[in-house]
Amino acid sequence: MESPDGGDLSGMPAASPSDTPHRTDVVVVGAGISGIACARTLTEAGVPVRVLERARHVGGRLSSPELPRGEGVAGARPVDLGAAYFTVSGGDEPGAAEFAALVDDWNGRGLARPWTDTLSARDEDGTWEPKPGPQRWAAPGGLRSLVADLATGLRIETGRTVAQVSPGPAVDGETACAVVLAMPEPQAARLVGAPLQAAGVLADRAWEPVIAVALGYEERCWSPELTAAFVNGHPDLSLIADDGSRRGDGAPVLVAHTTSDLARRHLDDPESVTRTVVDAVTTLLGLDRRPTWTHAHRWTFASPARPHDAPYHLDDDLLAVVGDAWGSPKVETAWRSGTLLGRALAARVRS
Ligand SMILES: Cc1cc2nc3c(=O)[nH]c(=O)nc-3n(C[C@H](O)[C@H](O)[C@H](O)COP(=O)(O)OP(=O)(O)OC[C@H]3O[C@@H](n4cnc5c(N)ncnc54)[C@H](O)[C@@H]3O)c2cc1C
Repeated sequence: MESPDGGDLSGMPAASPSDTPHRTDVVVVGAGISGIACARTLTEAGVPVRVLERARHVGGRLSSPELPRGEGVAGARPVDLGAAYFTVSGGDEPGAAEFAALVDDWNGRGLARPWTDTLSARDEDGTWEPKPGPQRWAAPGGLRSLVADLATGLRIETGRTVAQVSPGPAVDGETACAVVLAMPEPQAARLVGAPLQAAGVLADRAWEPVIAVALGYEERCWSPELTAAFVNGHPDLSLIADDGSRRGDGAPVLVAHTTSDLARRHLDDPESVTRTVVDAVTTLLGLDRRPTWTHAHRWTFASPARPHDAPYHLDDDLLAVVGDAWGSPKVETAWRSGTLLGRALAARVRS
């Protein structure tokens, strides 16, 4: 199930409604990993914070809805339909060491698992090569479970779509101490009007769409070598990932990501892309059968075409913008953006 603009509305149960709003609260709009990291940092610094999220649960593009295992098969299991995996830079950029420590903690508690450092890559001439790279991490419970873990104990109101942020700053007419927009810029731009500095920062930022299609099979029928494959130079697909391999349960489920070109042509009706995707996966992996069930999910704003150099935006109106567009667009960047802004905002609010 999904909302009209692509928010995933199925899966984990909704968080409880928050306490009564108060103007001394910082209001974070968006409960993806950047918004939750920001709220956690502010809370730990003693700053009162509320998170408002339009979906029924936290996670945003770390999306792991429970999908049925197929017709006539009992039960459902989470499938990662947003980010395919995450990496840990381990560099010396601000926040990188703390992100590595967080992932160690998740690993120690069995929430995250090192998946693979070798993907396959298909060259334009159709040949496949193993492609060694950084360690890719996944989560046995689906990547959304990691955001749910970070969100533990925070004041979060789910099912709350914010319509407007105005000078004050105010969220839908309620004044806040500060407001953090933690979402793709085209979504944030809809909320902010011209009098605010952030409107200029958010203007004219293009993002690329993706449609993710989950394909469930009766049994595993592809090479055991496959973990995930970059499909370079293909008109329709960019990635095929083995969801059973990354989650560690061996389920016969693949997830394919379309190219942005294909997604753009099917945004009004994401299910209409399914036949093209199934045909492409069948041919590319040389499969002798087709999936028994499929599920398509639209990401209108999957990744920014032109990221910023700075780690976040914080202006004199105490309106801030965070997310994966503030650096190289990936999970670690989103976490660091929210965390670093949380630290800066805590210092500003206290002074
Ligand atoms: C198909 C796909 C593949 C990806 N693959 C990878 C990968 O392999 N590795 C990697 O590191 N990263 C990957 N990413 C990127 C990664 O998912 C993001 O970097 C990260 O999840 C961004 O988090 P965020 O908090 O910045 O934004 P989001 O997760 O988008 O969170 C924004 C939140 O704001 C909410 N919201 C929006 N508007 C409103 C409103 N008006 N009121 C209230 N709430 C609102 C949304 O519902 C959402 O929950 C992928 C993303 C996609 C879509």
